Amino acid sequence: MRILLVLWFMTRVALAREPAIWDQFVAPRSQAEANRVSGQLNQLYLAEVQRLARPQWWAKEVAQRCRQNLQEISSQGLAPPPDARRFVQEYAAEQQRLALLYPRCTSEIRLQTGETAGWDLPERSFRLTFDDGPKPANTGRVLALLRANRKPAIFFVLGKRLQEAAGALPDYQGFLLGNHSFDHSNLPTLNPQQLAKQLSQTEAAAAQAGLVLTRLWRAPYGARAARELKAAENLGLHSVLWNVDSQDWQPFMQSQPGRIARRTLALMLLHRRGIVLMHDIHSQTPAELALLLNYLQPLNFTIVP
Ligand SMILES: [Zn+2]
Repeated sequence: MRILLVLWFMTRVALAREPAIWDQFVAPRSQAEANRVSGQLNQLYLAEVQRLARPQWWAKEVAQRCRQNLQEISSQGLAPPPDARRFVQEYAAEQQRLALLYPRCTSEIRLQTGETAGWDLPERSFRLTFDDGPKPANTGRVLALLRANRKPAIFFVLGKRLQEAAGALPDYQGFLLGNHSFDHSNLPTLNPQQLAKQLSQTEAAAAQAGLVLTRLWRAPYGARAARELKAAENLGLHSVLWNVDSQDWQPFMQSQPGRIARRTLALMLLHRRGIVLMHDIHSQTPAELALLLNYLQPLNFTIVP
């Protein structure tokens, strides 16, 4: 526990220059709270934190898994990324930070039976998901790319953006739609009425736009606890998370072309199965998606609906 607190403190210091979004979440503020929180963690998560608390060991294992994957793909004409070692170190640090920041509502913890983050998919199978849209022109480019490559995807839409795009909605035909709340509020901060409204208003906005939402939903930021899951369950909604985070919303990822696609590919190779998180609202996303689909071509991965 002491090492967790030290890491937590280091994380807080490192976070001073992070975007405000990180501040919306509650990290343990005392030893007692940290103890209580850690007691709530499921076994998988605890094991992960313990591994991450020893970065050298973790880096070695990840590097080993990367090497195996890379050997396999290099025979198919893809060169291994030159900065694989750095990537592994950065990713381990990122996971450490997430684990300590989001102990109660993290997207990394499966809280309820029926929630999925993609670990249950068959090996080499992935789902592509796009959040926060629609943003008509940009979403349209993403849809066109997916159609041209015959890849299915799920779009987790915001009710507010559906309303704003009325009359100029992108053509979602052939793709699945899920509920991502009305205006991307941080759900655990809302009262029960506001919470229910976030979900039901999005359903209404979709119906108004002539769209049918699936019974899939995704909490903004992955921030949900038992209460949020219960509210969604009352509406018959199933929670869908992710295990491959493209980080395509981060300015430092966007500033270097290809970085988002390379990170996403590296995580797909590492995890071998899962749900990829991207955002169709960012102008860089279509080009990064095109690059990613290019990388995936020789890999014999299946993109499933
Ligand atoms: Zn979102």
